[in-house]
Amino acid sequence: MKIVRTISEIRQLTQSSQARTGLVPTMGAFHDGHLSLFRAARAECDVTIVSLFVNPAQFGANDDLDRYPRDEARDADIAGKAGVDVLFAPPVEELYPAGFHTWVDPERTGAEGAHRPDHFRGVATVCLKLFNIVRPDVAYFGQKDAQQAAVLRQMVRDLNLELELRVLPTVRDIDGLALSSRNAYLSSEERGRALALPRALTTGRAAYVQGSDPIAAARAALNGLNPDYVDVLELGDAKVLAVAARVGPTRLIDNVILEGELQ
Ligand code: AMP
Repeated sequence: MKIVRTISEIRQLTQSSQARTGLVPTMGAFHDGHLSLFRAARAECDVTIVSLFVNPAQFGANDDLDRYPRDEARDADIAGKAGVDVLFAPPVEELYPAGFHTWVDPERTGAEGAHRPDHFRGVATVCLKLFNIVRPDVAYFGQKDAQQAAVLRQMVRDLNLELELRVLPTVRDIDGLALSSRNAYLSSEERGRALALPRALTTGRAAYVQGSDPIAAARAALNGLNPDYVDVLELGDAKVLAVAARVGPTRLIDNVILEGELQ
């Protein structure tokens, strides 16, 4: 696997290539959720490029940018073993050089956007930059961040980007907790309490199937966790029950599909 740090090097690799290219944008600290995206890209494309970039622009002032888990050697080892062809791991100045001044500012950012001002501005901007740099045929995202996928799908439509966006199912631990790089912050006691999130979503979905209010049912099953939101979101053709809650200092998000498909 090649590790590339500059835009010019990536362009040299991809410019003249006719190969179908899959891009998986990530912030690292790889787990099986990331691996499922790498696998899909490998299965569906000729070349798999994974970007590893902890994007400062998508963190708020009080967020966890400084303590976000970073271990490039471990990630490179995992990606290499998974058959990734290129790991694009630029330094911050490569993507945001001095004088950087232009942002993509999505207007509809839903419940998550309401709680994280400018988060999706950072996400959309870095993804558009990555799409322009790598020029993938397909870009892969996880349902775990369904609202992110919806914002990006809207960006692809609104800005006429020529790429396919694929959203793959959330990978969970055997106890139901959605895999997340941020799970590393949880103590074992907090991890136990975090299980209220997937349980509440399962309860909410069951209520929905029986014709009652999924939000009320999920809220009641949160087992004392105080959520930022529990909401039903219309994301493209899908209806999704989504939750965000803090467990100790760690903010976790999760969702389940009530109807339709995120694709
Ligand atoms: P991150 O490194 O957390 O920014 O995530 C990179 C990509 O992996 C995003 O598209 C996420 O939605 C996706 N992802 C993160 N966790 C999971 C998971 N548990 N299952 C599936 N995809 C995931």
